[in-house]
Amino acid sequence: MMVPTNLEIKRPSSSNKPDDIVLVNMYERVVFDVVSDLLPFIGMCPCGKCVSDACAIILNQLEPKYVTTQQGELLSRVSEVKKEAQSDIKILATRVMYKVSQNPRH
Ligand SMILES: [Zn+2]
Repeated sequence: MMVPTNLEIKRPSSSNKPDDIVLVNMYERVVFDVVSDLLPFIGMCPCGKCVSDACAIILNQLEPKYVTTQQGELLSRVSEVKKEAQSDIKILATRVMYKVSQNPRH
């Protein structure tokens, strides 16, 4: 079978058109949102390195939740998934963020 050479999988990006189809792990967005929500309460360093570290550790402990969706639908899909999953993710995120705040890698 021939694989088309222009095969491209789009990732979410602000330069996409609203009807572009994107492949995304919904939990990447939800975890980033939850970490941002919790930051002021946990007192973890808010730099990009610590936030990314915390997100990576949390995401590695979750089953991925990949969907294909239109770029323009992404935000409403994320808020649906966030509503369903955020209480579990908050518990995990709180634990991980305390750990990161005790051992910042910088
Ligand atoms: Zn930091």
